[in-house]
Amino acid sequence: HTGRAHRVGISGVPGVGKSTFIDALGMKLVEAGHHVAVLAVDPTSSVSRGSILGDKTRMQRLARDERAFIRPSPTSGSLGGVGRKSRETLLLCEAAGYDVVLVETVGVGQSETLVSEMVDVYLVLMLTGAGDELQGIKRGILEVADLVAINKADGDNVLPAERAQREYAAALHLMRGGRAGWAPPVLTCSGRTGAGLDALWDEVLRHRSEETAAGRLQAKREAQQVRWLWSLVDDGVKAALHRDPGRRAELAALEEDVRHGRLPAVRAAQRVLASLGLGRAQGAEPPAGPKR
Ligand code: GDP
Repeated sequence: HTGRAHRVGISGVPGVGKSTFIDALGMKLVEAGHHVAVLAVDPTSSVSRGSILGDKTRMQRLARDERAFIRPSPTSGSLGGVGRKSRETLLLCEAAGYDVVLVETVGVGQSETLVSEMVDVYLVLMLTGAGDELQGIKRGILEVADLVAINKADGDNVLPAERAQREYAAALHLMRGGRAGWAPPVLTCSGRTGAGLDALWDEVLRHRSEETAAGRLQAKREAQQVRWLWSLVDDGVKAALHRDPGRRAELAALEEDVRHGRLPAVRAAQRVLASLGLGRAQGAEPPAGPKR
């Protein structure tokens, strides 16, 4: 029962207007007959008690609408664990009939990669101002963004937003070089006024139909499944190692030896793997790991 939803990643720094945007876009979508689920992947919630995302009250209208489901960010576990729960929730939502799943994250660290690993299309929200428009763009945005939108394009900010839009579009164009395939468009929008939201959703649909026609959407989902398999195996092996009380002392001693330079990390890793029956012959190449 899974696989039929639009899986849309939405990221942007705190304050860029994600919750306002999702509230407005989500309402448009439910009013057009969609069933919308909103998930959050929040890298801060695992290290500090407060989380940046996932507070239900942030999306006032959508949170009260029966056609939408908003899941607060899981507040425990590693980022990997949070990612795993979000992915499983995404599948559950699809099976339950939600045909649009919005996965929200702050654009920091690994959360961006994690979310891009579970969605079909990735939208990065940006702001104008501070004259540093083009700085953020170097930081891997091109690797993950399928759509870029300059948010808060309302009132006095319309013209600056349009200027930023042109600058980003030119920069993205240059950075892509002549690469074939989907060229991420840059738009402007306002979660507050709703301006640009229809055009933005049209781009999401265009992305879906072009990527589907080219076979790239299917290929992306297949590759995501395979990488998910390996990340579950990685997590499972580590969890199994640390669960076994008999090993804990041994592993702690090994860590100490590595910490103090008494044992090279490579040798220590070989010992751990060998103790799992996964050793390799001396001098053999390590197996090719999952591509990340
Ligand atoms: P988030 O941290 O990314 O979820 O951002 P919020 O949606 O909480 O918005 C942060 C601040 O920006 C709030 O004070 C909002 O009222 C304001 N804001 C959000 N969207 C817009 C918008 O489209 N236009 C304007 N002018 N302000 C906005």
